[in-house]
Formats: sequence, C-alpha cells, structure tokens
Amino acid sequence: MVLARRDPASLARARPAAQNPTGHRGDSEAPDLTVVLIALIALFAAATRESLAQQPRSVAVTFDDLPMTRVRSLADMQAMTARLLDGLERYGILTVGFVNEIKLDQVPGEAAARQALLASWLDHGHELGNHTYSHRRLYNTSVAAWGDDVLRGERVTRALMAERGRTLRYFRHPTLNTGRDLAAKAEADRFLADHGYLVAPVTVDNDEYLYALAYDRARARGDSLGVRRLGADYVRYMEEMFAYGERLSVAVVGREIRQVLLVHANWLNADYLPGLAEMLGRRVRFTTLEEALEDPAYALPDRYVGRRGPSWLERWAVTQGRTVEPQPAIPAWVREAAR
Ligand SMILES: [Zn+2]
Repeated sequence: MVLARRDPASLARARPAAQNPTGHRGDSEAPDLTVVLIALIALFAAATRESLAQQPRSVAVTFDDLPMTRVRSLADMQAMTARLLDGLERYGILTVGFVNEIKLDQVPGEAAARQALLASWLDHGHELGNHTYSHRRLYNTSVAAWGDDVLRGERVTRALMAERGRTLRYFRHPTLNTGRDLAAKAEADRFLADHGYLVAPVTVDNDEYLYALAYDRARARGDSLGVRRLGADYVRYMEEMFAYGERLSVAVVGREIRQVLLVHANWLNADYLPGLAEMLGRRVRFTTLEEALEDPAYALPDRYVGRRGPSWLERWAVTQGRTVEPQPAIPAWVREAAR
C-alpha cells in the first residue's frame, strides 16, 4: 500500500546515477539501469494501485437467534436448519451463528435433538457465538443479571465447540444494545473481556426481522403468492441496505470497510439464501468474521449509549458528532404484513 502511494519518480531521484551499483555508466549503448528501475517501479506501483482498486468489497455474514428465531416444532427447525446450511454450503459462505440456549430447553425430551442442530452448524464449518441464554437486552437489565445470562448461555455451545477442538470467542449483544450509559457499557465490556469474549459488531443492520415475521405468517396460512412477493422484495431491500452501508462507510470512515451483515436463522433466509447470496455476490466477496474484524476500522471508538441498537457505522458517526442519512425504510405493506 505504501509503494502504491509513493511517487516512483521521487524514488529514482533519490538514487544518483553515479551510485549505480551495477557499475554501468549509462552510456548510449547499454540500457540505463536507472531508467529500467524507474520503469519497473512505475509498473509495480500501477499494478498495486490497480489490485487495490479491484479488491472487491467484502462482507462477513452472521446469523442471530440460533437455532431458529421463531420455533414452531422440532421438525420445522430441523428442516429450516438443513435448508439454510445447504444454501450456505452451495455459495461457499462461512458464518458465525449466535445462539440463545434457552431454545434448547423449551421442550422436555428434545434437548439432545436441538443441540444436534447446533452441532450441524459446526460440522458444516461454521462457528458459533454467544447471544445470551434468553436474549436478554442490556438496556433494561443490571450488568450483573445480564452477565449471569451471558454465562448461562454458553454451557452447551462451549462444550460442542470444545469437542471439536474449537474455542468459543464471539459475543453478540441481543438487539445490539450495549447499555444505557457509559458506565454500564464499560462494565459490560469488561465482563465480556474477562470471560474471553470478543464483541461481534454489525455494520449492515437492517429490518430483515420484519420481512421474516411477515414471511412466517404468509407461510403458515399457505399464501404462496405472499411468500414469493415478500421473498423477492426482501432481496431488493437488502441490496438497498448494502448500498446504504457502503455510502455510510465512506461518509464515516472515509473508505469502504469490510462489512458485517446481521440476519437471523429463519425460513425467509433458508428459502431466499440463493437470491440473497447471488445479489451479495455481485457486490461483495464473502469473508469470515475473523477476517472482517482485522479491518482497522473496528478499533474506532464507540461511545454510543442509549435505548437503540444501531449499527457500528452509526455508532462511530455518533461518536464523531456526525449526522448520517437515515436508513432506507421498508415498504409500508411489509410493515403492515408483519403486524
Ligand atoms: Zn437476537
């Protein structure tokens, strides 16, 4: 990157011809090696500039509320999980899925089968993270009670990962709420760090959950037309959200960062993963959360506190005292269908 920005002519100027290490005097018969060097450096710099310019945008896809957002039955959850994992495999997408272990305990006798669903994410090469036991929101909880829910939420997940030689490391805040004030936020951050967790930020937050709610309703009443209409508009909406995230990134960070997308484990994504993956694949390269978080942008200060759970791009904007353009709205008919 440094070379790409350096002016090759200035490098050449820094190397006087008299110090030419080859001993050539640079007469008209032999090629002047300084000139060759200038040409090579210029070529290299141009190639580097081009490769940086061509470096595709990237995104890490993450799923929340595993094993499934709205559980109807074990069979339904198994079918949804299998379809989602097949789709991810087909498009070569490796994700981190954030678990609410409360969902493993809801029906007596089903714990083992529900745990097997989490194991299948790991066995497909994905990683699991903690999303608290009961999806507890930090805003209206004491940090102590919230911390208990965090630890209660790691028992099965940590064991499943350890059986496969892996270590639980990521935590995602439910509703992305990181605390009502700076003291609570700092206390929660300390708690997470003390327990070996890395916070998993989100830069492309969205109202996918409303599409998913409407989708589940349409599906439950056998409304195949409604299902298709919602699915198609979901992909269109997500493309709009991506374009928004890209603009926000340039406005707030000054460049396009490696993005992190949040979606949920639900039928909408299981059915429309091909549409979503193909749309994303035209815009971005899929990366892992680990690689995305290597982007130095994630070290930017985040001093957002409050009721909402905005994306990290919005948090950085708030911290910098910037106002950003509002997030694209979902259509009224989708909002209505989700009521
Ligand atoms: Zn959640």
